Amino acid sequence: MKARIIDGVKIGHQIREEVRIEVEALRQSGFVPGLAAVLVGNNPASHIYVKSKIKACENLGIYSEYIPLGQETTTAELLQNINALNQKDEIDGILVQLPLPQQIDEQTILLALDPAKDVDGLHPMNVGNLALGRHSLKPCTPSGVVEMLRRENIPMKGSHAVVIGRSNLVGKPLAFLLLQEHATVTICHSRTQNLPRVAAQADILVAAIGKPAMVTAEFVKPGAVVIDVGINKIEGDLLPEFLERDPSLRSQYEKNRAENKNHVLCGDVNFASVSELASAITPVPRGVGPLTIAMLMKNTVQAARVRRA
Ligand code: NDP
Repeated sequence: MKARIIDGVKIGHQIREEVRIEVEALRQSGFVPGLAAVLVGNNPASHIYVKSKIKACENLGIYSEYIPLGQETTTAELLQNINALNQKDEIDGILVQLPLPQQIDEQTILLALDPAKDVDGLHPMNVGNLALGRHSLKPCTPSGVVEMLRRENIPMKGSHAVVIGRSNLVGKPLAFLLLQEHATVTICHSRTQNLPRVAAQADILVAAIGKPAMVTAEFVKPGAVVIDVGINKIEGDLLPEFLERDPSLRSQYEKNRAENKNHVLCGDVNFASVSELASAITPVPRGVGPLTIAMLMKNTVQAARVRRA
């Protein structure tokens, strides 16, 4: 079998166009949804993510504020900024880009967010509501995965979904979302025994591990749907090994080389071997990635609607 490739760029675009229409309607009724993006420190990847989020707001007519804070920012200083944004009426959504520098207590920061403005769905109240199956703001990447499955007409109800990864950001919330869709859900992690055997029971297999090309054909039941959340940058001495392990990376490598970039982005799934077995699969890049920002925009509009109703 040769898997159908799920086009995350196309689905992300569809979602953003729907958000654009909603933003326009809200503007006509007299208010503009607003998002504040707080970036602490100088992590280059975080900088790129925040810039893309601000750009997405600009494209959709969402008001945005970018709040860059220095690497040495303290928990107290960041709290002051959060409190100000909680009070600010123009701001419907607050995004604190993770990871935060070591000296900042992440839990204290997440707890300080107004849950109604927590567009990343990481405040304990939103996490609790998600676990209870109640209305809440939901983390963007996991809700992007479910939205993708829905739009691709992949049945979740009654299916066996195996999620590899149990992070608070991706694995755990995704498991709750799939449960709400009536999937039978298994969550795996680094201590799971016989991982390939457990994974190979899945109708829907999600990899959110952070280990490049780890999921190989032995993890996959023929005909399964495979969703690859992982984004791993491969460069330097590791490049030859991974180009050999997953030959599908070669075309990306050639393209990047032509642009003077000496790296590839690799998912957690060995695309070359798994795409021979799966019925549908997301690529990296252009798979789950584009949905994360699209869902953030959707969450911002949802927060604006609820807050200003
Ligand atoms: P974390 O590092 O927080 O979590 C990784 C999870 O994978 C942990 O639960 C860990 O288990 C598990 N794990 C690690 N090694 C193994 C192993 N050998 N076997 C089984 N399980 C293992 O990562 P995140 O959840 O934040 O992110 C996962 C991936 O998704 C990363 O590549 C990240 O870059 C990407 N990502 C992509 C996004 C997108 O927009 N597409 C957004 C967010 C993340 P344990 O708990 O036991 O340690």
